[in-house]
Amino acid sequence: MVSAAAEAGAAAEVRAAEVGAAADARIATAWQALARLEDPELPPLTLVELGIVRFLKVRADGVLEAGISPTYTGCPATDYIRQLVEGALAEARIGPFKVSQVLAPAWSSDWITPAGRAKLESLSVVPPERSASAALAGGTAAVRCPRCGSGDTELTSQFGSTPCKALHRCRSCLEPFECFKCI
Ligand SMILES: [Zn+2]
Repeated sequence: MVSAAAEAGAAAEVRAAEVGAAADARIATAWQALARLEDPELPPLTLVELGIVRFLKVRADGVLEAGISPTYTGCPATDYIRQLVEGALAEARIGPFKVSQVLAPAWSSDWITPAGRAKLESLSVVPPERSASAALAGGTAAVRCPRCGSGDTELTSQFGSTPCKALHRCRSCLEPFECFKCI
């Protein structure tokens, strides 16, 4: 009886390992599919680089769940981003999936990856330097001009070309530029 129980236990372990490996493969495939999606407001930054894709996991019921967070509450792109993610996951054939919106904790610009920050710089959009909590505690931060590097800049509008960006102007070179908001 002991050996039968041990055999059953070993078989269950093998099955669990197989299920775990299959889940890992689905998650890896899903990440690859999502890594190609560009943010509709900030191309060529991807949703993954912006930290919008919060997690991928396979639930106990076998459904792969993707958690996404809007960068900006009420951002009109949120529904579109969900459609992009759903389309990419369907195309990747990773089995049953569900896209859920993660609102807490809210998206923070701290989640932008180093590659994402480098792309923002190259677009002359100033990447956010301060975390949400710091921004709330300290009001507006001094923003460096992406063209001449001067710190003598002013906020001219809370809304740039999209609600996620604010419009600034450099007092040194007088050029306007956009700054990705600290949220
Ligand atoms: Zn300047």
